[in-house]
Amino acid sequence: MSTGTAPSTAIIVGAGIGGLTAAVALRRIGWSVTVLERAPIIAEVGAGLTLWPNAIRALGVLGLAEAVEARAVPTVSRGNLRTPSGRWLRHNHPDDVGVLAVHRAELHDVLRRALPESALHTDAEVVSIAPDGKVMCRCAGEESELSADLVIAADGVNSVCRRTLWSGNPVFQGRSVWRGVTPSGSVWPVRECLTLGHGQQVGLLPLPDERVYWFVTLNADEPNKEYADEPGEVLRRVGGWHDPIPALIQATPPDHVLHNDIVDIDPLDTFVKDRVVLLGDSAHAMSPDLGQGACQAIEDAVVLAAALNSFTADDLPAALAQYDAERRARVQPMAAEARESVKRNSNPSRVAHLGLAIAARLIPPAAWRKATARWSDWNPPKL
Ligand SMILES: Cc1cc2nc3c(=O)[nH]c(=O)nc-3n(C[C@H](O)[C@H](O)[C@H](O)COP(=O)(O)OP(=O)(O)OC[C@H]3O[C@@H](n4cnc5c(N)ncnc54)[C@H](O)[C@@H]3O)c2cc1C
Repeated sequence: MSTGTAPSTAIIVGAGIGGLTAAVALRRIGWSVTVLERAPIIAEVGAGLTLWPNAIRALGVLGLAEAVEARAVPTVSRGNLRTPSGRWLRHNHPDDVGVLAVHRAELHDVLRRALPESALHTDAEVVSIAPDGKVMCRCAGEESELSADLVIAADGVNSVCRRTLWSGNPVFQGRSVWRGVTPSGSVWPVRECLTLGHGQQVGLLPLPDERVYWFVTLNADEPNKEYADEPGEVLRRVGGWHDPIPALIQATPPDHVLHNDIVDIDPLDTFVKDRVVLLGDSAHAMSPDLGQGACQAIEDAVVLAAALNSFTADDLPAALAQYDAERRARVQPMAAEARESVKRNSNPSRVAHLGLAIAARLIPPAAWRKATARWSDWNPPKL
């Protein structure tokens, strides 16, 4: 899609996984992109992440799957299940769906390296946006107006773009999550597992360089709660769980322990307003229980580029309508299921916990695969 000889232009708000993937995908179809990121520098971000086969295939379309694989550990998500005392409820089976465990910062780095530095602007906060593709940006303290053929709002769950042109605030799901990555070799070796407590879960995933990504998910009465000693708070809750859970938490530098509320958003009736399109968490933030949020942002980017590539410049509305229809049909049922999973996983009753434990023991591998592969059996369009 281009107007005569000049390439079509896009402003991308946010240099998260969604925004950067969109930038790579649009450049691949010949667009000129400007990514605006409000953070002054792109420092090491977040903890770990699992990438399901759907996202790896989408990265493959962009020529990035191998680079990500080289910086990830192939593993199985939700294959090894344990109780807090360490008893095994289930072991990985060869039929289980394989995923990649990667540090977010490394996925981010692979995406950034696929872009020219000139495309990415930090300390550039979008403060307002109009449906005609004009944005007001505070860049290094100075406000300036920018415009493009298309604005891709990839500014996350608290998206200012969504709040301005749509509505919809994040919805607190009554859960909190703590996450961390251990320093290289501090606690090693560690086997991937998910430990199921009563309404509480702990996940462990080995990362490259003998690091371990851990997360602890717990019920929470109110959002935005902070603790003076976050690792101490986690240890207070799960410090008596099986090894090496306490050691992993203790080994993580306290200022690297992240604590977030689990939030999602209600489904939107469109992802498109004139020349503005939502992508990633701004469009469909979902609870992390399916491990698909970032995977869906990656899918969004490839599907958007394919839609833009299959129409002429005059047909921008048709291209965006195609993206909107395809993506909402895929991602909104998934977000609904993720919300249901939160309810199931947060139920602290003995009966609910017993139900999970029995399911883990009795569901045959083929049925387990079918259930976990439901969202990862997806193929990207060609670019
Ligand atoms: C605990 C937890 C575990 C998870 N685990 C997984 C997993 O295993 N697998 C998976 O696929 N997903 C997982 N997710 C989901 C995943 O993290 C998100 O879906 C994904 O990061 C969304 O990417 P994004 O680019 O849409 O948004 P974000 O990563 O939020 O990026 C938005 C970017 O926009 C910038 N920004 C915001 N406002 C502005 C503005 N006004 N102007 C300019 N820039 C702005 C921000 O600084 C940020 O860089 C998990 C989420 C959580 C909370």
